[in-house]
Amino acid sequence: MKNIAILGCTGSIGTQALDVVRQQPETGRICALSAKSNAELVLKQAIEFKPALVAVEDEAAARSISSRLPKGVELICGKDAAVKAAAFDMADIVVNAVSGFSGTLPLIAALESGKRVALANKESIVCAHELVEKAKAKGNGEIVPVDSEQSAIFQCLPAGRKSELRRIILTASGGPFVDFTREQLKRVTPEMASHHPTWKMGRKITVDSASLFNKGLEIMEAAYLFGVDGESISVLIHRQSVVHSMVEFCDSSIIAQLSAPDMRLAIHYALTYPDRCQSRFGSIDLAKIAALSFEEPDTERFRAIPLAYHALKAGGIMPAVYNGANEAAVGLFLKKEISFDCIAQRVERALEKAENHAITSFEELLEADRMAREAALKG
Ligand code: NDP
Ligand code: MG
Repeated sequence: MKNIAILGCTGSIGTQALDVVRQQPETGRICALSAKSNAELVLKQAIEFKPALVAVEDEAAARSISSRLPKGVELICGKDAAVKAAAFDMADIVVNAVSGFSGTLPLIAALESGKRVALANKESIVCAHELVEKAKAKGNGEIVPVDSEQSAIFQCLPAGRKSELRRIILTASGGPFVDFTREQLKRVTPEMASHHPTWKMGRKITVDSASLFNKGLEIMEAAYLFGVDGESISVLIHRQSVVHSMVEFCDSSIIAQLSAPDMRLAIHYALTYPDRCQSRFGSIDLAKIAALSFEEPDTERFRAIPLAYHALKAGGIMPAVYNGANEAAVGLFLKKEISFDCIAQRVERALEKAENHAITSFEELLEADRMAREAALKG
């Protein structure tokens, strides 16, 4: 029985990971739960799953549940609470479902401690891939992707050798505004951008899916996870969200992974890999879906895609600048301080302003992230 720590246990992926264990208890045992401030939900989860450790970053929120936790549950709090949960002795697998750049240090800590990381948090590997590689080498940890596209690629790649791979084809639902004109995109409100046609996700990734910054981050995530360059990655709009991504080999064969748009499937696979285990959810009837469509994305209306290729090619701090500027710009958009189409403009300007250099330490990465946010906030 594997011991599982869930970082970001109160979010969309975190609660779905808990649902996998609830419905399929043979998957593993929850040994640690970590969140930022939603202590009441963590308390409910701790009563149900009886972990050995609960980590809540916000100290007041942690104090508010301390006397109500089940006997034997250790409670920790403070800035490094998620990092401590990531390195928790008892954990075999760490699900990193923290949102945004905050997932970076927990990823590094888990890999340095030799854990398998079921990685949903794409921002961490995009920003810190050099540090992530070092952490993997130091602690012998491994990453199994949870992001549905990367999980699909991870499942398709064993059909050929690395030297036989021609390209990775990332699919994108296109989000709710895929058919909007430039004028319509200017008038998108936070309310409109907070609903996705196929996936129910946290607020930031929902906006990223609508702007295609999520796909931009995934281009870089795929490059770093699978060791390929930008030229070997293409993106296709696939509105049905059934083909989660594909790989093409040198003999022109394309291998695809298909399943229902249910994140529990990718989470379950990351927890049970290399085994394939019976699943109680998510089977699809292809006859009912009837047709699958594929289109080129419009890179004029959705600048997130060309900007991601640019940041990936430049390397150094640029992927972190892309991410930090986007996180800051999404924050401004959600506060109605900038329009939807300005998110890409702010990121583009931050990339132009940044002076590129390699990242050799977490402090350098933090500084690049800070500068990118500052540039995006100033505009
Ligand atoms: P949510 O916003 O729903 O949840 C975020 C979680 O992270 C919450 O539990 C939150 O705690 C926690 N958190 C935030 N900061 C910290 C911190 N400093 N320490 C510990 N926990 C923290 O996000 P999602 O679940 O949608 O996404 C999580 C990650 O997974 C993102 O990187 C996203 O890109 C990725 N992903 C998500 C998919 C989805 O379908 N949702 C699909 C593929 C990838 P609290 O509630 O207390 O604030
Ligand atoms: Mg995805």
